[in-house]
Amino acid sequence: MSAEYREMWEKLNLDLTAHDGLLTVLGKFYGDIYLSQDKRLKGMEYLDFVVSEVHGLRIKELQDAKARGQKVVGTFCIFVPEELTLAARAIQVGLCAGAEAGKEEAEKIVPRNTCALIKSFIGFKLARLCPFIESCDLIVGETTCDGKKKAYEVFKDYVNLYVMEVPQQKKKADRELFKAEVLAYKEKLEELTGNKITAESLKEAIKLVNRKRKVLQRLNALRAKVPTPISGRDVLLINQISFYDDPQRFCEKIEDLCQELEQKVKEKEGVVPENTPRLLLAGCPMAVPNWKLPYLVESSGAVVVGEESCIGTRNTRDLVDESKETLEEMIDALVDRYMRIDCACFTPNEERMENVLNLAKELKVDGVIQYSLLFCQPYQQESLKLGKFLEKNNIPVLNIETDYSMEDVEQLKTRVEAFVEMLEK
Ligand code: SF4
Ligand code: SF4
Repeated sequence: MSAEYREMWEKLNLDLTAHDGLLTVLGKFYGDIYLSQDKRLKGMEYLDFVVSEVHGLRIKELQDAKARGQKVVGTFCIFVPEELTLAARAIQVGLCAGAEAGKEEAEKIVPRNTCALIKSFIGFKLARLCPFIESCDLIVGETTCDGKKKAYEVFKDYVNLYVMEVPQQKKKADRELFKAEVLAYKEKLEELTGNKITAESLKEAIKLVNRKRKVLQRLNALRAKVPTPISGRDVLLINQISFYDDPQRFCEKIEDLCQELEQKVKEKEGVVPENTPRLLLAGCPMAVPNWKLPYLVESSGAVVVGEESCIGTRNTRDLVDESKETLEEMIDALVDRYMRIDCACFTPNEERMENVLNLAKELKVDGVIQYSLLFCQPYQQESLKLGKFLEKNNIPVLNIETDYSMEDVEQLKTRVEAFVEMLEK
């Protein structure tokens, strides 16, 4: 990394020695998991470049935008409407929460039995490792699971935090509550940026965020082909990068990649042989750089063809209705779309059962791996019910509970290999 970046990181008050260590580990991890793959697509070069510059060029872009007066908003959950953030001419970034770095620091302010995702975002801040968090003018939390809710009560002492309330049910009153929260967030953004959100700016933002979802839908439709033309690891990475790359540029690059994939599909050129077991991962989001499970699956003779998670189809499945003209109508369209999210934090959450089953059928999977982070009560509880439902529908299921450590890799590999072997019979 150039001296210019070091100066920038210093200004952002990063712990430079620990940060150097993190980049070295990440670079090696990325090389082993990503660059070692066979039949890599040309279009993935852009993603490799983005990863290599994740704490460099992208942070510089954010700093340049801030120097021009734009604000940066960080989020942890797909309930925070990016459309509003963009309509206020701010930049939204999903904050990385997929590595163990800073865990010891985090455990000083949240209990040890907190999920790895929460400990990760706290750890990155306390250990001064994340230039994205340090670039944020505002961080938006949300009242989804109890772990996050209580963590925000202490996290607020370290960052400029705003918490949106997300209802836990989907009754009429819950929709009204969420609409009030969306309107309050709109006001908060207007106050932060000094920009009024207008029907025109919101319409433009709705189109842009929908475009991002549509390009990811197109990618998902292509990977659903048999044989699949792209590895699950690569698609997960694309989804992860969609949260912090410039949205316009991201759409253009992934559209190019889709064209390359269309050609591969036409030529029936798969990234793996046609009879490779196809798996769907369902459950907790895998935030960057959490690539452990997809790597284990794909080095055990199977291929991942879908992620039913917030860094996957839960985030891209539903679009916002683009036909509305007034601000009020557009806000309603946003609320309707966001209230369709089937996060396990909702009770009851019956629609998720059908959504997972339909996805498994569409993707022609041989099995589903339910993935829960240790201590994630919502997804662990729901996995029992969903597992039974899938098995009743003749879909084999494997339940995995893990965190970001590498200690259980051998044990997980044995379980995944046994599951894949069973599917091959
Ligand atoms: S799983 Fe739930 S809480 Fe987590 S990002 Fe998704 S919607 Fe938000
Ligand atoms: S993984 Fe589970 S416990 Fe952790 S933040 Fe998400 S919903 Fe909460």
